Amino acid sequence: SVFIGSSIGGLAEIYTSLQKSIGATENLFQILDETKEPLSDIVKIDPEHQLQGNISFRNISFHYPSREDSPVLKGVSFNVSANQKVALVGPSGAGKSTIVSLLLRLYDPSNGHIFFDKKENHHFPLSALRSQMSVVPQDVFLFGGTIGENIAYGKQDATEEELIAAAKKANAWEFIQRFPLGLQTIVGERGIQLSGGQRQRIAIARAVLKAPRILILDEATSALDAESERLVQDALNKLMEGRTSIVIAHRLATIRQADKIIVLDKGAIVEEGTHKELVNVHEGLYKNLSEMQFTQ
Ligand code: ADP
Ligand code: MG
Repeated sequence: SVFIGSSIGGLAEIYTSLQKSIGATENLFQILDETKEPLSDIVKIDPEHQLQGNISFRNISFHYPSREDSPVLKGVSFNVSANQKVALVGPSGAGKSTIVSLLLRLYDPSNGHIFFDKKENHHFPLSALRSQMSVVPQDVFLFGGTIGENIAYGKQDATEEELIAAAKKANAWEFIQRFPLGLQTIVGERGIQLSGGQRQRIAIARAVLKAPRILILDEATSALDAESERLVQDALNKLMEGRTSIVIAHRLATIRQADKIIVLDKGAIVEEGTHKELVNVHEGLYKNLSEMQFTQ
């Protein structure tokens, strides 16, 4: 790849510095909107190309630009077919978020190839890839503006009807319409404070509106209240239907339903299969993790 060991168009630095200051969230939306192309790319694919949603990582190794001596991914290969739901599971530091960063092309791998529908990722205009992916992060940060603006982020020309339809699908309309100003309600520092579950449903509404081919989900580790949890899970299930989903999964409910679970440890894939298959692996990492975490 042309960008070995470096980041794409400075976005990764923005990502990292923003991540430190405000958390890993708002910036992701900005990044997905970013359309600046890496200058040395030879773009061969039409910007309007519609992804089918097949993803393939072939022998991916990666170290962060500043850390040449510590590889974070070591020879990672996996396939995701269009419309599959794949869970990434593994201990903290295993490399799950790094896989997402490579998928979004915040970085290029040090070695190996990433394919979308059998075409290498750097043959696509960056904007063509990112406009067809949505991220619903762990902790959703809303920018100081109206609820409507926050939902419309990925589709600025959305009509009010579209915003309401998206909010309904995201199980967000019920609480939005209870505010006297509805979609015009100001949120963030100068406005009203929404709960974690409400913010997540705004992020889901944003993804509904964008209707991406590929959905990337970083499940919240901290528990939402039971009602919010149910509404969020229900909205996510609907959102995942009919598109490729990659979920950094912490909840058993999500993992059980996955077509495939990829178990990572120290930058390598150690197991791959369905929940049923992996709980039967003698002394397997997944079996261990699920006994420890999920049976509580
Ligand atoms: P996970 O999401 O599975 O917890 P990560 O992909 O976040 O794991 O991290 C994998 C490894 O990469 C960890 O050792 C982490 O410290 C390191 N790492 C993550 N982000 C960066 C970064 N921006 N710069 C340097 N090292 C990083
Ligand atoms: Mg992570």
